Amino acid sequence: MIGSPGAAPDGGCSRAGCREAASWRIDWRNPKIHGADRVKTWLACDEHVDYLREFLAARSFPVRVSAFDAASTDAAAPLPLGDLPAAGGERA
Ligand SMILES: [Zn+2]
Repeated sequence: MIGSPGAAPDGGCSRAGCREAASWRIDWRNPKIHGADRVKTWLACDEHVDYLREFLAARSFPVRVSAFDAASTDAAAPLPLGDLPAAGGERA
């Protein structure tokens, strides 16, 4: 279900219904409800990384895609995301 993001990173793709192992991580946040230090992380397989990135980018969320190495536990800790220039001119 696309309307309910929130899957916890567990080494698998965050795309609903996808059981592929993730090779990408997508760090993002919703500036309207998340502070600058509140970063969500999705994982994605090769097939869905573009889909998930576009899903977030279309909402003008700060999003960063980086390689995910399931063997590296360090990858589980999201880094703070800065504000990216948002489309639409919305200002809090
Ligand atoms: Zn997938």
